[in-house]
Amino acid sequence: VNHHYRDITDKLGSPLWWDENAVPRYCEFHPDHTANIYAREAVLLHIQCQSCGASFKVCMSQGASRVNWVRTNTDGPVVLYPTLAESVKDLHYGDPPNYGCCPAGPTMNSVPREVLKFWRREHADWERVPELEVAIEAEWFV
Ligand SMILES: [Zn+2]
Repeated sequence: VNHHYRDITDKLGSPLWWDENAVPRYCEFHPDHTANIYAREAVLLHIQCQSCGASFKVCMSQGASRVNWVRTNTDGPVVLYPTLAESVKDLHYGDPPNYGCCPAGPTMNSVPREVLKFWRREHADWERVPELEVAIEAEWFV
C-alpha cells in the first residue's frame, strides 16, 4: 500500500501523474522530474486499479547502477535487473496510487495497460523512444 499523500492532494487536487513512489505530481511529465535523479530510463505508464478500473499515469525509472547486472547460475547468466527497454512488455508498477479510487483500491494490484512515453539517455540529454511506447497485454490479468 502506498502512502495517501492527502496533505498534498487536499491542497492541489488531482495530479497529472504519480512518480515511482506514488507521490502526486503536478508538472507535465518529463524524465527530469522523476524521483530517481540518476535515472537512465523513464517511462510514463497508463495503469488501472485492479478492483475498479480507475486509470492512473505513473512513472517507472531505472538508473545506470542497476542496469544489466548479471549473475551466472547453473543454467547460465541471469539478468537480475533488465532494462526497462528489455522488459517493456512486462512492466508492472505494483500497488496503484493511494487516491481513494475505491475502498479496496490502495490494497489492490494495478494492471499495466500502455507505455505512454518512453525516455532514455546515455549521458545528459534525454531522447524519446517512440518504438517502445506500446500497449501492454497483462497476461496474468484476465
Ligand atoms: Zn480502485
